[in-house]
Amino acid sequence: MAEADGFVVDFPTLWVATDWAQAHCVIPDGFEKGDPFILVDWQLWSLLNFYRVRPEAKFGQLAPAFYYRRGQVVLPQKAGKAPYSSAHICIEAVGPALFAGWAKGGERWDCRDHGCGCGWIYEYRPGEPMGRSWPTPLIQITATSEDQTDNIYDALRPMIDSGPLHELIPKTGEEFIRLPGNGEIAAVTSNARSRLGQRVTFCPQDETGLWTPQTGMVKVAETQRRGLAGMGGRAEETTNAWDPGEGSVAQRTAESATGDIFRYHPQAPAKLSYKNKAERRRIHRHVYAGSRWVPLDAIEAEAAELLQTDPAQAERFFGNRLVAGADKAFDLELYKTLETEDLQLEPGRLITLGFDGSLTRDATGLVATDVEHGFQDVLGKWERPPELAEDDEWDVPIDEVNEAVDQAFATYDVWRMNADPPHYRDDLNRWAGNYGSDKVVEWWTNNRRQMAFALRDFKTDMRPGVMSHSGDEMLVRHIGNSVKRPTNIRDEDDRSFLWLIGKATAKSPQKIDLAMAAVLSWIARGAAIAAGALNPPPKYDRASW
Ligand SMILES: [Zn+2]
Repeated sequence: MAEADGFVVDFPTLWVATDWAQAHCVIPDGFEKGDPFILVDWQLWSLLNFYRVRPEAKFGQLAPAFYYRRGQVVLPQKAGKAPYSSAHICIEAVGPALFAGWAKGGERWDCRDHGCGCGWIYEYRPGEPMGRSWPTPLIQITATSEDQTDNIYDALRPMIDSGPLHELIPKTGEEFIRLPGNGEIAAVTSNARSRLGQRVTFCPQDETGLWTPQTGMVKVAETQRRGLAGMGGRAEETTNAWDPGEGSVAQRTAESATGDIFRYHPQAPAKLSYKNKAERRRIHRHVYAGSRWVPLDAIEAEAAELLQTDPAQAERFFGNRLVAGADKAFDLELYKTLETEDLQLEPGRLITLGFDGSLTRDATGLVATDVEHGFQDVLGKWERPPELAEDDEWDVPIDEVNEAVDQAFATYDVWRMNADPPHYRDDLNRWAGNYGSDKVVEWWTNNRRQMAFALRDFKTDMRPGVMSHSGDEMLVRHIGNSVKRPTNIRDEDDRSFLWLIGKATAKSPQKIDLAMAAVLSWIARGAAIAAGALNPPPKYDRASW
């Protein structure tokens, strides 16, 4: 197997924990239900790393005895994450989950000393770290929804009920499992606010790729980590590959610079294309290596079906790759065909303006639309020079921004300017003072509903004969950079879900601000037409007839 080299255990760890798990946990479902749960390579590797002990660990230490403060396992659909988490929960519930000092040799874990009549005995070798159980294990299976927590919980119950653990844990309830020593296993979601602040010793956090800031789960993860830190407990994330544009808990963990997080995320060589069937098979063989129960033909069938509707999702789910899920918001090729040299913004023309501004990081742009022709051009643009280093200082030259706005109002007949207020409150007020508050309008792009409908209209109008543009390099680039951010806002007409636009990732250097400015300008143009701005003034006064 390709990763075999990576699976060398040359560090001290609680072998007793993984041996105990295989002696006590049973396969929770299928034809082999009730048979011993034998850990496959990736499961063994992940657990042995989770229980890796620091060489200087001292008896009495809880989490600090371990090399890793928490863990993260990233695997594709059906690789066996739920039974894995269940076995891990069993170890933390009644198994040897804590460091109990270094063996001189001959010491034993004897199940009879731990209330278990199964007869299992583990003899430590000299110098090996020993294990002991939590006196009061408090475990929270955590996910975004009950369906998700059920995934693990439904594997956990038969794993306990159908094997030797039944003696230690006689009753597994629908809602929670009572453990010896007044401990318990409960399933929680973000709804269970009161439970989330509780003391915890182990938190399996499932599908953290879905734990985005919008779901409230980033807070949940932080709350649980505080609770764990107070108790000397630890957490383990299990998840599919995530969308790198969403800032999920999984993404934050993976991108965290700290060295005390164990991460397991097998990935096939990047040169293999997921769209190519033969290469896709190789990718599957790689990421499902060791999950012997997975029929790769069935995976291929599911992946091929999903590829037709959501290729990014398919590549994440079955290819274990981090792919920006959201599709590109606009058809860049179509947009490029709308470039025209026949039109330009002639002085005195009736125009609308859109302004989206940043101060240091993102770009700032002023886009104009010729109301009659639907022709867009850029009147001002400021972008942080790409050659600057991350910590180099750079500010948008505010004077130049002001000058560009003044120039626009001096040169054209501006019907309205829609401007996103953050960072430019004072300037907006001054422009409104100079040119009228009916002309300079605050337009909040963070108003999701308003923005989603504006984007729908902009995209609908993006077609020959309706919209055209000057081909400004930065504008075209920003249109191409924009990726869709799904919302739960529905279009009243066809009930489809509307979307917002964002950068591919929060820190992405691929800016979209001129696209925003173009949308704001376009929306103002629509308002101008609706208000009759293009209707020719009457040639004769009726009264003079
Ligand atoms: Zn036992």
